[in-house]
Amino acid sequence: MRQSTHQALLRQIPAVDQVLLRPLIAAWVERTGRSLVVSEIQALLQEVRDGIRSGDETYVRAVGMDNLELVLDQRLRARLRPRLLPVINATGVILHTNLGRAPLSTGAQESLSAVSGHYANLEFDLATGDRSYRDKLLEGLLGEILGSEAATVVNNNAAAVFLILNTLASGKEVVVSRGELIEIGGSFRIPDILARSGAVLREVGTTNKTRIQDYEAAIGRDTALFLRVHPSNYRIRGFTERPGLSELLDLAHRHEVPVVEDIGSGLLADLSRFGITEEPIAQKSITAGVDLVCFSGDKLLGGPQAGIIAGSRKWIEPIRKNPLMRTYRVEKLIYGALEGTLAAYRAGRALEEIPVLMMISISPEELQRRSRRFVRRLKPRLPAGCRIELFKGHSVVGGGSCPGSELPTTLLALESARYRAHVIEARLRSQSPPVILRLEEDRALLDLRTVFPSQEDLLLSGIAHALE
Ligand SMILES: *Cc1c(COP(=O)(O)O)cnc(C)c1O
Repeated sequence: MRQSTHQALLRQIPAVDQVLLRPLIAAWVERTGRSLVVSEIQALLQEVRDGIRSGDETYVRAVGMDNLELVLDQRLRARLRPRLLPVINATGVILHTNLGRAPLSTGAQESLSAVSGHYANLEFDLATGDRSYRDKLLEGLLGEILGSEAATVVNNNAAAVFLILNTLASGKEVVVSRGELIEIGGSFRIPDILARSGAVLREVGTTNKTRIQDYEAAIGRDTALFLRVHPSNYRIRGFTERPGLSELLDLAHRHEVPVVEDIGSGLLADLSRFGITEEPIAQKSITAGVDLVCFSGDKLLGGPQAGIIAGSRKWIEPIRKNPLMRTYRVEKLIYGALEGTLAAYRAGRALEEIPVLMMISISPEELQRRSRRFVRRLKPRLPAGCRIELFKGHSVVGGGSCPGSELPTTLLALESARYRAHVIEARLRSQSPPVILRLEEDRALLDLRTVFPSQEDLLLSGIAHALE
């Protein structure tokens, strides 16, 4: 570019005030206020000026007002898009930790929203007008469902395990089977949490076999408790042995040692007829006589992120008094959502109302019908050169639970003459709402199990748009 062309182009760049008058831009000023829009305009105009001075041809085409308006509109849209968005989970992974684990039931959403914009009796006794304590708020409801004497709620199950160990075992020994020294999701490792809690790890048995005699031999003056951990995210097959819970409880209680069980997922309903057979059920642990059981609120329980500790009052009370309890306490929104979720269990309607359990319990036949119907509706909207094919596969429970349980499902494979599978994945991810799918052996796969029926229309147009 010649110097005179530069000058001519630079003179064509409009002033900020002129840009502000354009309809799309004026609408942004209306919505978001002037200063943000002005700063975005200034940044763009400077970029165009620099581009022209450096002789970059792409900026020669950028100076027109129509183009500037469109670019600004896109940039403002991107800048103001919320960072946290609802997405369509078409992966078939039900408890997808990266997608926020359990979506809440309608009842839970209602309870949460009922208290969200108002004051609530979080720590206020409505009967007496006295102050009360949030960590006792759901003790009664949890007791009804679990059969527990006492219960409390903390931020997540990792916090629950840590608080239990810190309260009951600091400076003393915690007996754990070597087959249960697990890692859940990267940073949560039983030996590390135990060390940080101030407790001393007393490992017993071997990776695949731990016998009751191994526990017995470990009991001594310094024994604080037996910790039993559900190996949530892996299984050892073959030559294995682990004492039954009642056998362990007998031994422990003969020596007045409490047993703490971290069951992980918070399963409160029998799902064995859907193939979930290896997850411990919280009520069973309480009935068997475990002193404390702890589990997550947002795994198989199907509620908000929380950690629930239930069991005998003797052990719950000191946990409540631990000064660290304050650092793990949860706010009223979580209590609202958790109470709304638990209410479905009390009413015996968990499988009808809690999304995670509904997704687990949909039959393969129903999924096939839904998938066929979906394909029939999608086909006429698919651009030329695209194909969709149905075949059998598996959904997974996820969230570090049920590693062996694969739920039979129908998968939809998307193919396009224009785009490779990973490009299809990226294009679906950039839709609004974003659609997250599964990539397997260079195939773009959708599993309707984790798609809410109410999202199917959005999914349909998202796919049609992404494949254009
Ligand atoms: C998932 C899990 C945890 C951690 O629970 P969060 O609620 O994710 O903190 C701890 N222990 C076991 C056995 C688990 O499965």
